[in-house]
Amino acid sequence: MTDSDAPADASVADADADEAVDADADTDEPAGGDTDEPAGGDTDEPAGGDTDGTDATPAPDVLDTARALLATGPLCDHCLGRPFAERSFGLGNHERGHGLRVAVALADDDDFRPGAAGDCWVCEGVFERVDELAERAADAVADYEFSTYQVGTRVPPLAEENDRLLREDAGMDPDAGEPLRKELNREVGKRIGQVTGAEVDFERPHVQFLLDVDADRVEATVNSAHVYGRYRKLERDIPQTEWPCSDCRGSGRQGREPCDTCDGSGYLYPESVEQLTAPVVEDVMEGVDSTFHGAGREDVDALMLGTGRPFVIEVDEPRRRAVDAERLEADINAFAEGKVEVEGLRLCEHTMVERVKELNATKRYRAQVEFGADVSADDLADAVADLDGATIEQYTPNRVDHRRAAKTRTRVAHEVTGELEDARHATVEVHGAGGLYIKELISGDEGRTDPSLAGLLGVDSEVTALDVLAVEGRDEPFEHSGFFLKDGRADGDGGETGDDDSDDGNGDEE
Ligand SMILES: [Zn+2]
Ligand SMILES: [Zn+2]
Repeated sequence: MTDSDAPADASVADADADEAVDADADTDEPAGGDTDEPAGGDTDEPAGGDTDGTDATPAPDVLDTARALLATGPLCDHCLGRPFAERSFGLGNHERGHGLRVAVALADDDDFRPGAAGDCWVCEGVFERVDELAERAADAVADYEFSTYQVGTRVPPLAEENDRLLREDAGMDPDAGEPLRKELNREVGKRIGQVTGAEVDFERPHVQFLLDVDADRVEATVNSAHVYGRYRKLERDIPQTEWPCSDCRGSGRQGREPCDTCDGSGYLYPESVEQLTAPVVEDVMEGVDSTFHGAGREDVDALMLGTGRPFVIEVDEPRRRAVDAERLEADINAFAEGKVEVEGLRLCEHTMVERVKELNATKRYRAQVEFGADVSADDLADAVADLDGATIEQYTPNRVDHRRAAKTRTRVAHEVTGELEDARHATVEVHGAGGLYIKELISGDEGRTDPSLAGLLGVDSEVTALDVLAVEGRDEPFEHSGFFLKDGRADGDGGETGDDDSDDGNGDEE
């Protein structure tokens, strides 16, 4: 009869043949060493430790191990059940612990004694505090809108040590089952989800909690929120991002006097695309700071027209995330007073920052060109035809940042068209690979760019105004649905830029 009490012993009869397997099984599985515990003897099956070798993975006697664990001192149900976490999917550790306690009491016909809860020698009652910890975590972000979170726990080192000692004292593998930290993480995490209605996200949650049980501290980190859009810059002499005055290093002062260069503003230019847009987003999202990420940048004196330039505004520690992108767009456009316009605003993932900065882009430019001598329409047409589709060699222009290494680069001028306005003036449009210097393509930069419009015409040519008409992904549009939040904006608002890049010949994505 005793055989049938313990399922693990059911195959006693077959075991004899496999001496070698038994030996292996015992040494491989420290948990199987329950025979050196006197408690193991009460089944009156001396063979108990030897007979579990018929299966490839012998099951240790669960009840014997549970008795050994209980003999170490007062345990809560979590800590009793956790060494068995790999058994019986669908149970919580506290349910395993409670079940074992019941099973041992029944098997031994002992009085049932409930778990030690707060007096547990292993966890010192930390599982009694999970509700409180979850409440405190939720309180820490009560003013913040979030729908995803992640929990990390710092368990007292002593408790982690106890967790291993418990298993060792009971003859188990010190890593058997699940570590304390993992269970605590899950239990608190589950309750935070219940309290806040948010969901766990292991990738990049809106909020990350760190529960330091030892220091009795709950920390919450609120990750930034992101808005994508395209901007047009309709006035010249506006840089893309803040441009601090170099004479006063942005302080606005030189000694005790206001800085002459910037009139004490601290900025070389009073406004930027960033300053005309990002503060509105920061304000609406109730963040603490914001950063403007552009897909490249045009010259300060160039306009950005046409379909605009992709950008992402990142807001730190936002209290609001689910903002109305269309309304935000209108707010920004009102704030920027026609100097800058944004469109296609959508809430996006943080991964859009990298895409905007890294995606290979082509650009369309319109240059107003002035000639040093008269040029005929035919000459211009011939020169432009030569540039159309040409590979241009450009030695780093003098005007470019001197920290950048000087070298000769080749860039393709995919498409070049020109129209003469009078003998001394023309409008030239260029669709070029990212990094093609347009002013030098026109002027030749004293021979450093070849071929060039000036070189082909044999006439000095200079760009008097340069505007960007479009910034487009070379192989695919910037705007791919995978980068946008589902509730970021109603579908079909026509924000895609893929309308006029058919000449790239590769508009095959979506
Ligand atoms: Zn415990
Ligand atoms: Zn200054």
